[in-house]
Amino acid sequence: MLKNYDIAILGAGPAGIMAGLSARKIDKNAKICIVDSNNNIASKLRLTGGGRCNFTNNKDISVFFDNVVRNSKFLYSALYSFSNEDLKTFIKASGLEYIVEDDNDDKVYLKSGKSMDLIEVLNLQLRNSGIDFIGKTKIKELDLKSRKIFSDDLIIEANTIIIASGACSYPQTGSDGSIMKLLSNKGYNIIKPVSALAPMDIKESWVKDIPGISLQNIQIKVLKLGVKNKSGVKSNSQNVKHKKVAELFGDIVFTHKGIGGPAALKASSYINRDISGSSLELDFIPYINREALLDMVKSNPKKTIPSNLKELFPNNFLKRILEKCNDESEGQFDFLNDYSANLSNKNFEILYESLKGAKITPTALADLERATITSGGIDVKNINSSTLESNIDPNIYFAGELIDIDALTGGYNLQIAFSTGYLAGVSAAENLKNS
Ligand SMILES: Cc1cc2nc3c(=O)[nH]c(=O)nc-3n(C[C@H](O)[C@H](O)[C@H](O)COP(=O)(O)OP(=O)(O)OC[C@H]3O[C@@H](n4cnc5c(N)ncnc54)[C@H](O)[C@@H]3O)c2cc1C
Repeated sequence: MLKNYDIAILGAGPAGIMAGLSARKIDKNAKICIVDSNNNIASKLRLTGGGRCNFTNNKDISVFFDNVVRNSKFLYSALYSFSNEDLKTFIKASGLEYIVEDDNDDKVYLKSGKSMDLIEVLNLQLRNSGIDFIGKTKIKELDLKSRKIFSDDLIIEANTIIIASGACSYPQTGSDGSIMKLLSNKGYNIIKPVSALAPMDIKESWVKDIPGISLQNIQIKVLKLGVKNKSGVKSNSQNVKHKKVAELFGDIVFTHKGIGGPAALKASSYINRDISGSSLELDFIPYINREALLDMVKSNPKKTIPSNLKELFPNNFLKRILEKCNDESEGQFDFLNDYSANLSNKNFEILYESLKGAKITPTALADLERATITSGGIDVKNINSSTLESNIDPNIYFAGELIDIDALTGGYNLQIAFSTGYLAGVSAAENLKNS
């Protein structure tokens, strides 16, 4: 069967939906459809924020760029065309309320705590805008020169195509990277997709001995272990400086294989292209300096260190860290049982380093199936950042996670999907009107 549209949108995630709605604002008469392999719209959006939908962040839009790991500058037009303020206004105008989480991270969630509420609103808006949703239609081929997309039993021919097919994470939601593969055969440069915002495996065994324990408000420094010399060869020799590439704050949880939790997920986005050349330094008490720690350790000299520090950490964590200190002090001091009065300066240094400079070595990230988002995708050089039109094929636009952009946790990734969707939709509809 052949169907004709003015604008065909591939992918009914937040980017594709917003592209349809913004195109409709510009052109009241255009024939617009959104095609998706799923029966319903926004399968991934439903899972976001643990089902509560952390749809944006409350920080000033200029701060967003600091939270984008790859290609932040590319987003300038998109984020200023449809900012976090615009998205919050859109949510309010749709009859939904939102709240800013009281967690120092300014995450904005739906007040109802139900992502389904937003999905219902988006569904209604698509219907009221006269945009056709063509579900259960997996696109298997593209002809970008004649602007046709093909499923097993449908050909859609369009004046303009917006590709918003997502990336490769959580493929059960329909975002399986299949369109990236098709694009790579059509002259597009695909930056290798890798996991981002993913839990990681850690080499050091002590980390894996305390699964399930979580720590709040820790600091993670991401270090690159070597720098490239002039011939491009990496060196890890001792005279090469370890470069700090990111400093992150938040919670972590220890797992059977390593660490997860918000701060660990953020760190993963900085090491995903060079795990073997990366290490992490953890400060479990960033708000306590050396003097304050010494005071606490010695607060009651006739007591043990676990007793003096018990308010700071979960029992099992402290026990495991102090066992590690025992190994390092080679029997000079029993960190679990000796009175803290007997702690020498040298052994305090061992404790200090373990609590405020613990070096750990990531060995792998969870695979794409379990990564919250994908880093990589269509090279931004193939796309005009002011309009999101392809630099290769006229009348083809791109939006959302499919593009080689990824951001940290905090609502930034959904904002990017909505903003790029908005800009692609407006650009496509204006181009159509002027043609
Ligand atoms: C568990 C989880 C929690 C998350 N939580 C948050 C959060 O709280 N805040 C935040 O900012 N971000 C969050 N994210 C990330 C965010 O959901 C994504 O960045 C966002 O959904 C990307 O939007 P998109 O429209 O580009 O792509 P997607 O939402 O992935 O949508 C793409 C659509 O294209 C369709 N499609 C793909 N290929 C084809 C094909 N061949 N034929 C037909 N249809 C196709 C898919 O079925 C899919 O519906 C989370 C992600 C996950 C997995």
